[in-house]
Amino acid sequence: MTMNAATISFSFPGLAPLAAERSNDSSPWEDHRAALQDAVREGTRVRREEPLAAKTTLRVGGAARLYAEPISPADLATLLRVARARGVEIFALGRGSNLVVPDEGVDGLVVSLGHESWAAFEPRADGRVWVGAGLRLKNLCGLATKAGLAGFEFLEGIPGNVGGALRMNAGAMGGWMFDVVEEVRLISLAGDITTLPKAAMHVDYRHCAELHDAIALGALLRPASPAAGEAISRQIDVYRKKRHETQPREPSAGCIFKNPPGHSAGRLIDECGLKGERVGDAEVSPVHANFIINRGHATAGDVIELVRRVRAKVRAARGVELSPEVLLYGGKWEDKL
Ligand SMILES: Cc1cc2nc3c(=O)[nH]c(=O)nc-3n(C[C@H](O)[C@H](O)[C@H](O)COP(=O)(O)OP(=O)(O)OC[C@H]3O[C@@H](n4cnc5c(N)ncnc54)[C@H](O)[C@@H]3O)c2cc1C
Repeated sequence: MTMNAATISFSFPGLAPLAAERSNDSSPWEDHRAALQDAVREGTRVRREEPLAAKTTLRVGGAARLYAEPISPADLATLLRVARARGVEIFALGRGSNLVVPDEGVDGLVVSLGHESWAAFEPRADGRVWVGAGLRLKNLCGLATKAGLAGFEFLEGIPGNVGGALRMNAGAMGGWMFDVVEEVRLISLAGDITTLPKAAMHVDYRHCAELHDAIALGALLRPASPAAGEAISRQIDVYRKKRHETQPREPSAGCIFKNPPGHSAGRLIDECGLKGERVGDAEVSPVHANFIINRGHATAGDVIELVRRVRAKVRAARGVELSPEVLLYGGKWEDKL
């Protein structure tokens, strides 16, 4: 990644040599945990074997070997540097609304910007607004409405936060996240912070290349225009109603497959008669064929098997290769499909 703007470095305390000795647990993960914990300050907790299913909307999968919610950029930078020095892989977690967490969990450090300090919403005098990566899109819409800032309505109903929406270039109702982005502040996995203008970023359908190996800290957004709160609310209601009518209510990770060029993935799956197809408690939604829902006790294995089955049937019947939009957290779909 090119870092073409001011780069800020944080110093961090050295690894504590006694970290492993203080614990009775001799696993290397406990050793990593203790070293990470010793390096941060200000109340950032580093936990072992943190269950992830409840931190996702699909509610499947195992635990993160290591998990932290840093409360400051300095602590985040320290975590990244120490993890990297120890060869521990790093994974950003947003609201978990586009993820399948594997049943075996994630071998690495999962970092969530869940602390309230990452949820800034700061309108500027020039009309633009700074938002923290941990701000929920729902709150962004609500706060923008109150501030009379139009242009973010299309984000209503996407259950992610700003960081996840930037990484995925989330889109709905004809709009994409990067339509409203002017610049993104991010931290590299080496712990260096930089700000990139949109023009320097490589963004397309459900993808932002610069956030593959970096964590977004926040973004400067440009609203479409000032508008009356009432008009904004009305538009949001229209979008909310549309979602209500067309999407399932059960736990899911949103659309499971990308729309192939010239096709709607949902329509292809529907035309293959796959609505209601089930593996364990994972089911192709009868409401929207591109959603896999969790009927209660689905495992990631069930979801993956269903993804495999749907792809195979669509390929055989229509000759179209569907590729997942939902990410396999900590792994690669190629290894599973
Ligand atoms: C009911 C439902 C409806 C949905 N509707 C839509 C829709 O209309 N349009 C749409 O585009 N999506 C939709 N989604 C999918 C999902 O909400 C979006 O992809 C969303 O942007 C993911 O955000 P998140 O915070 O949940 O990210 P997560 O799912 O937690 O993470 C997604 C990816 O982003 C990365 N990431 C998270 N935070 C950061 C960060 N700070 N910096 C860098 N990378 C980060 C993660 O590592 C992961 O690779 C829907 C999902 C559901 C469940």
